[in-house]
Amino acid sequence: MKRFFLAFAAVLLVLAPAAAAPHLSLVPLKPNLYVVEDDFYAREYSMVYIGRDHVTVIGATWSPMTAEILVAEIKKITPLPVTEVIDQNHDLDRAGGNAYFKQIGAKIIAIQATSDLLAKEGKGQIADTKKFASDYPDIPIVLPDTIVGTDFTLQNGAIRGLWLGASHKPDDIFVWFPNAKVLYGGCALKPALGNMAGADLAEYPKTLRKLKALNLPIETIVAGHMSAVHGPDLIDRYLDMLAAYKP
Ligand SMILES: [Zn+2]
Repeated sequence: MKRFFLAFAAVLLVLAPAAAAPHLSLVPLKPNLYVVEDDFYAREYSMVYIGRDHVTVIGATWSPMTAEILVAEIKKITPLPVTEVIDQNHDLDRAGGNAYFKQIGAKIIAIQATSDLLAKEGKGQIADTKKFASDYPDIPIVLPDTIVGTDFTLQNGAIRGLWLGASHKPDDIFVWFPNAKVLYGGCALKPALGNMAGADLAEYPKTLRKLKALNLPIETIVAGHMSAVHGPDLIDRYLDMLAAYKP
């Protein structure tokens, strides 16, 4: 009888529907510019720019494993090497994959504040991430090795990184692709407020107003979470949400 129940249980295990496996894929947005849809742990969107002779990844994704999947996806669309990754802030959805990029010899690019905050908070962030994603791995914290100023360009000016002040975290940068007229907002621009735990509520609206004052001819904003592709009005929508926010 016991054997029967064991066999029955085994059949149930086989028949139980597997939870939908997380996926990571590249979605074309503009010529040479892709949105990374990354469903692991908590859905995030990063970006990939294919240059003339090398590839730049914007956002290191959650972990060395997701970074490895991303680079494998990039290899399906171009033979060019991935030589650099930008940590858009020090959160693990933007910097958790650094160890893999280091392993393949890519430069890990960030502003000084991101490197400092990752050194200070990285270990604690692993524990915090496990609270909402129990399968989040014990990743090695790898710091950026290429520190840039608060207004920097890559890929012969096709990518411009801008830190304009504190927002979602003290160190979030915006990434502007002038040829494509696309702005990557990362964790700082989303269709809903999102996690405000580390937000600087006094500076956040000022920083977004500085972004507007640059008068960049933005056609598309790519958000870092929830849903990816938006129009330039996302900045005003986020400002309205901040104004209505009661902590
Ligand atoms: Zn984020």
